[in-house]
Amino acid sequence: MIIGVLALQGDFREHASMVRSLGVQVRLVRLPEEADFVDGLIIPGGESTTMGKLMATYKVDRAIIDRFNAGRMAIYGTCAGMIVLARDIEGSQEQPHLGLLDVTVQRNAFGRQKESSEEDLDVEGLDTPLHALFIRAPVIIRTGPSVNILARVARGPVYVQQGRLLASSFHPELGSDTRVHEHFLRLAEQSSNQEV
Ligand code: GLN
Repeated sequence: MIIGVLALQGDFREHASMVRSLGVQVRLVRLPEEADFVDGLIIPGGESTTMGKLMATYKVDRAIIDRFNAGRMAIYGTCAGMIVLARDIEGSQEQPHLGLLDVTVQRNAFGRQKESSEEDLDVEGLDTPLHALFIRAPVIIRTGPSVNILARVARGPVYVQQGRLLASSFHPELGSDTRVHEHFLRLAEQSSNQEV
């Protein structure tokens, strides 16, 4: 199994080292052809407007959409990555994004003055709470019928799954708890095992 990490902008190095620490091979993805052969792709945190523009410039956006729609890979977006994955971005619909995840997100939902926060989350499928770090994080304000909410805070959902799409407002790659990445690797494994 190979996990791609989109490496145009943002905290891709932290995701890459967490995946490697779980014994899985990583490929940094910038160009369309680098998305070939990956079973899962992580879209990191960073700045979603910049990342979306770079994805369009490098034409890697189309390659990601095609490979995902062909059932060949799973995708996990954190923070800015969640925004890039979303179908709708409140007040910012014109910024380039992939539109694969049937949710509406609100950027910087926790207020600019309170730029980062930490919270222990109850997560569906996990026995003990997950310590989550939010940095100028988005919140989900609408979920489509096929979206499963895995965790929420008072403001709304912050961790969701739609089939082989996973998205979190928070940054597990900046901590030491690997359970979110392990969950994602299981989704990627399903793509890897699939007969074509
Ligand atoms: N505020 C950023 C955005 O809207 C996301 C922040 C992050 O990824 N930590 O793109």
